[in-house]
Amino acid sequence: MPVAPMVEMAHRHGARVLVDGAQSASHLPVDVTCLGADFFLFSGHKVYGPTGIGVLYGREDVLERMPPWQGGGSMIDDVSFERTTYAQPPARFEAGTPSPADAVGPGAALDYVERIGRPAIAAHEQHLMSRLVAGLSSVPGVSILGAPAVRVGAVSFVLARYELQAVGEHLNRCGIAVRSGHHWAQPILRRFGHEISVRPSLGLYNDEDGIARLVVALRDLAEGRRR
Ligand SMILES: *Cc1c(COP(=O)(O)O)cnc(C)c1O
Repeated sequence: MPVAPMVEMAHRHGARVLVDGAQSASHLPVDVTCLGADFFLFSGHKVYGPTGIGVLYGREDVLERMPPWQGGGSMIDDVSFERTTYAQPPARFEAGTPSPADAVGPGAALDYVERIGRPAIAAHEQHLMSRLVAGLSSVPGVSILGAPAVRVGAVSFVLARYELQAVGEHLNRCGIAVRSGHHWAQPILRRFGHEISVRPSLGLYNDEDGIARLVVALRDLAEGRRR
């Protein structure tokens, strides 16, 4: 997504922008200042970390004008019978005793990602993505959805004459984990004329062998040789 120009357009109309970075944080270098968004967030488990915790970034000048959303310890500045004032962000939004143990996991995960380097991860994934797109395109009946200049992380396809849930199940039985469904993106799927798609996604743990196995399994199904 061309996030920076989208943010710019929204800001011109006085809107605040929250970027859901759950799909970009593990694949691309992210510079929140360059994007200019008011908020940016992602989940721990999308950067190889634990579930149930994530990261929410907010621009300082925006956070400073926001009221607290929960009351509790550490978010108070001063209380009297006349008035209450709240702590500066981020403490204002972190009511109650935090859970440091929970935050250690995503911290370690981010250190791991940083150590490998997002540019190196992006290069690895781009290489695999071009293999994957070429492989999928070579299977009879496969249509790939969309044609972006750069694909990040995932590619959606449909297979003519096949029920797509069954395609996903077939691949999963072959040991290839893909998602088939609407991927929480029904408007864009309908824009392409579909209700569901099959969607392999790539991460730094994938390799060429896995892609070759996916393509073979799909071709076996498409050509009626399913095992
Ligand atoms: C995974 C994902 C979510 C949901 O995050 P959870 O932490 O799994 O609830 C939201 N948006 C996008 C783009 C995602 O990829």
